Amino acid sequence: MDTPQLDEASQPLADAWQHCLLQAGPDATALLRQVAQDAPPALAQRFYDVLLQDARARRFLSHEQVKDRLQPAMQRWLTQLLCTGAGDVAAAVAAQRVIGDVHARVGIPVDLVTRGARVLKQELFARLRGLARDSATAFAAIDCLSATMDIAMEGMTLAYTHARERSSRTDAAYRLFSLVQNVSTERERQRALLLDWENTLLYTLAGHAGDGQGASLATSEFGLWFTHKGVPSFGESSETRQVGQLVARIDHCLQRAGSDATPSQRLAVLPPVREDLATIRNLMTLLFERIGELDAGSDALTNLLNRRFLPTVLRREIELATRNQTPFSLLLLDLDHFKAINDGHGHDAGDRALQHVAALLGQLTRGSDYLFRYGGEEFVVVLVAASESQAMVIAESLRRQIAQSPVSLPNGQRLDLSASIGVAGHDGHPDYERLMARADAAMYAAKRGGRNRVVLADASLPEAPGRRALQR
Ligand code: GH3
Ligand code: MG
Ligand code: MG
Repeated sequence: MDTPQLDEASQPLADAWQHCLLQAGPDATALLRQVAQDAPPALAQRFYDVLLQDARARRFLSHEQVKDRLQPAMQRWLTQLLCTGAGDVAAAVAAQRVIGDVHARVGIPVDLVTRGARVLKQELFARLRGLARDSATAFAAIDCLSATMDIAMEGMTLAYTHARERSSRTDAAYRLFSLVQNVSTERERQRALLLDWENTLLYTLAGHAGDGQGASLATSEFGLWFTHKGVPSFGESSETRQVGQLVARIDHCLQRAGSDATPSQRLAVLPPVREDLATIRNLMTLLFERIGELDAGSDALTNLLNRRFLPTVLRREIELATRNQTPFSLLLLDLDHFKAINDGHGHDAGDRALQHVAALLGQLTRGSDYLFRYGGEEFVVVLVAASESQAMVIAESLRRQIAQSPVSLPNGQRLDLSASIGVAGHDGHPDYERLMARADAAMYAAKRGGRNRVVLADASLPEAPGRRALQR
């Protein structure tokens, strides 16, 4: 087995594991290997029996494919835990991190994982006690196993935490992106609202209507937008705090002026208020500029969603589908012989073709569906609330439209396109990587079958090359 290179966080775990093995001594490690010979199947079963009593765990474990795959995987994990020698601790630690990544993707709560470990520990300790020649060996083996299981949990948790942090950052970026989807429109709208408010104030304070009492910036349309959508979109910063303080100061000033007797006294508050409003406007310009820079949510060429948001969207759709027992499906579309288009007509023609296909995708799907530029000439369509058979119909109409609508090039030439599409319906599996892998395998099957066709994914889990991880 190749020794993997461990990162800074994993190395201490490998060292600690090694230390445990050395300290345990040959008799204890031999006992652990002895337990590994026949315990894993029964233990894996026990693990399921206990965890399936928990409704939350059932959500992750009851899928047939999970059952079929996880039982053997759990047995392999136990065997590795019990049989790892001093030479392969690095590989063992690396394996725990991979498991932690899967848990994070699927969203398995950490307490369920540690409960599983507790159940396994109890069972294993009892077996070690029963098999040991003497209590000293039993104790040394239990000591060692307890520590290595903890190390394994630590490795998983480490990976889990990192992966969750990464994905919550993307989730947050996605929320921001969808909240203020059109930054420039929103900026103009808020600017206009603020100006309107100022004009109305001028008008009332000049004595044309009322005394300005009751005019409040905080409860104006601008003020409400700022508090409820602006702050969460921009993120709390010294600028957002400053805007909040200026709004409060303006309102305070107006309240006082409202009780002043003469119109000239009331007018006297105008200059400082207008000064504060000008500052707010400048701050808003700054905040919107910053959010505009951050807004890399869509692909610049096609204006479709950036693939980095695909995990966020798929996790959410899987959650909704599981909770509401509704279907959803995924299309993976790859343009055929695209390299030949670039080579024969130039990169600009290729770009134009990509925009053309993106536009067709937009026309032929619903507003609630998600369109992603997944790679160079690959697209992913998430069809919400669509069954596999509905998805097949949509995929087929996409394929037909793409094949029937040549791209017009600036020189008047018309360029024929075609696409191979893989279709996969959500089958209840909690891991979005699996759904992607199935769609990917179906798309490859469409290529192999001669291109310009739609293929439905079957239930079998494909192996490489149909398997490409989404998040690396
Ligand atoms: P196949 O039918 O097997 O999919 O063949 P293909 O030529 O489409 O597949 P391949 O993956 O070999 O080539 C994809 C090409 O897409 C390679 C690259 O030059 C081109 N490409 C990727 N991104 C862009 C882009 O943003 N603009 C343009 N014009 N071309 C791109
Ligand atoms: Mg491709
Ligand atoms: Mg291609």
